[in-house]
Amino acid sequence: MQIASLFQKNRPVFSLEIFPPKRIGPIDTIYKTLDNLKDLQPDFISVTYGAGGNAGDTTTADIAGNILNRYGILPLAHLTCVNYSRQEIGQILNILKEKEIKNVLALRGDINPDITPKKEFSYASDLIKYIKDKGDFYISGACYPEGHVEAKSLDEDIKYLKMKVEAGASHLISQLFFDNDYFYSFLEKVRKAGITVPIQAGIMPVINKAQIERMVTLCGASLPAKFTKMMQRFEHSPEALRQAGIAYAVDQIVDLVSQGVDGIHLYTMNNPFVARRITESIQGIINA
Ligand code: FAD
Repeated sequence: MQIASLFQKNRPVFSLEIFPPKRIGPIDTIYKTLDNLKDLQPDFISVTYGAGGNAGDTTTADIAGNILNRYGILPLAHLTCVNYSRQEIGQILNILKEKEIKNVLALRGDINPDITPKKEFSYASDLIKYIKDKGDFYISGACYPEGHVEAKSLDEDIKYLKMKVEAGASHLISQLFFDNDYFYSFLEKVRKAGITVPIQAGIMPVINKAQIERMVTLCGASLPAKFTKMMQRFEHSPEALRQAGIAYAVDQIVDLVSQGVDGIHLYTMNNPFVARRITESIQGIINA
């Protein structure tokens, strides 16, 4: 099933994102996480892809295959391209095809100073074109409500976003944000630019202070005063911070759904407890 077709339902699409365990950790830990996530009945679960440059690593494909076969949930496999040749990407796509994974989130991947990019794919739009030409997959792309960190301006980023859609992305998932106003103003610009595909809002609950600091450095998300006050007030009390973080994410989602968002994509950070608390708090809202 194509992810874009889920948006024809009369309610926001709700999905979860997980990441494969670190290479040193046992792969089975992810199945414990999934055992705890499956009854939340998300519309799909996405699995991130390490941008490490090892095309022989089938972890994302293996986990996505199990999401489909073991849990009966639609998987979305992430795939980055900047460190791969066309031949390597073709190899990864063949594995996904063998596992009957139909939906791919096509990404450039971050530029790692320790790895020289292969230069066969410079941008996500190059990968999208390549996958589209294969004809076997439905393609999703990433978007950035506050602009990608490397982009000269939001307008320029939106120009390139349009190229991704024209190349074949039929659905977009946003980078995390903590201030919904950025998302609304982005949506207005994107729609004005003629991008009509469904766009899911990416929401990341705060689990701890270090995690948020790392994420914000990486993606440049703005932190509204309400958010920083919450962090300062509860930074020394992990349980209070977790409760406040869950309440903040729920508040963001209630507002987004009230404003008619296409869908919510929850960055679970592989934490089923937090994902469950949030999902249970918004079940009625999503299905209203
Ligand atoms: P692109 O769309 O290629 O954009 C990258 C930059 O290049 C932007 O600044 C854009 O404005 C610019 N640009 C685009 N096209 C052109 C052009 N033709 N000419 C000049 N400039 C251009 N990373 C991982 O490693 N693994 C994951 O699984 C993963 N999952 C993600 C999921 C989501 C929902 C999001 C939002 C991000 C994810 N990332 C992941 C991070 C992502 O790889 C990085 O943000 C990366 O830096 C950009 O990827 P992109 O696909 O958005 O790139």
